[in-house]
Amino acid sequence: MVWLTTGYMEYYLYMLPALLLVMLAQGLVSARYSRFSRVMTARRVTGVAMAQWVLAQNGITDVTVQPVAGRMSDHYHPTKKVIYLSEGVYNASSVAAVSIAAHEAGHAVQHAKGYAPAAVRSALVPVCNVASRIGLPLAIVGFILSWFALVNIGLVLFATAALFQLVTLPVELDASRRAMAHMRTCGWFEAAELRGAKSVLTAAALTYVAALAQSVLQLLYFAARFSRRN
Ligand SMILES: [Zn+2]
Repeated sequence: MVWLTTGYMEYYLYMLPALLLVMLAQGLVSARYSRFSRVMTARRVTGVAMAQWVLAQNGITDVTVQPVAGRMSDHYHPTKKVIYLSEGVYNASSVAAVSIAAHEAGHAVQHAKGYAPAAVRSALVPVCNVASRIGLPLAIVGFILSWFALVNIGLVLFATAALFQLVTLPVELDASRRAMAHMRTCGWFEAAELRGAKSVLTAAALTYVAALAQSVLQLLYFAARFSRRN
């Protein structure tokens, strides 16, 4: 166990690029959200109207749009078939609000059209949640007991966290791509508003890239450490 605690410095040095990227991405998404939440769309299009337009445009009639508490808590719930939009998005008519609403509606379109990466991601959610949580403790227990089969099983389980981030990334990029396409074709927005939307969604995408980099580096770090001690 000693090598794990004394390895803290090494761990943080190793993880530094990923941690910096995560902080940078979070800072950027927060800054752009704040900035474009204050820029109102000329036509005063609300988040709920944007999401409903995307649904109608794709012939989706069994998905509802509902408000949800919190800041940036927007998400699409595939089993309930509900697009939840946060307080700052649902009734807001800012560039940030319509971009986020179009993105979440993009997830509903993926679901309705049977977009494969989204289906894979949904199937992986429960598996990865459990596996990634028990993986590392299991590997550590295996290491303490010098039971290296257990170490390897633990690492494989831990690796599913990275796998989950890996399938999440294309799903998120695709939702944003759909969002931008819908925002362009609806004809409600000016060029500057579309540029603002693009910058909000790009910052959001960067947080998923950062999360992937973090979990891959984390996995490589622990794999290297365990194999060195084997
Ligand atoms: Zn998304």
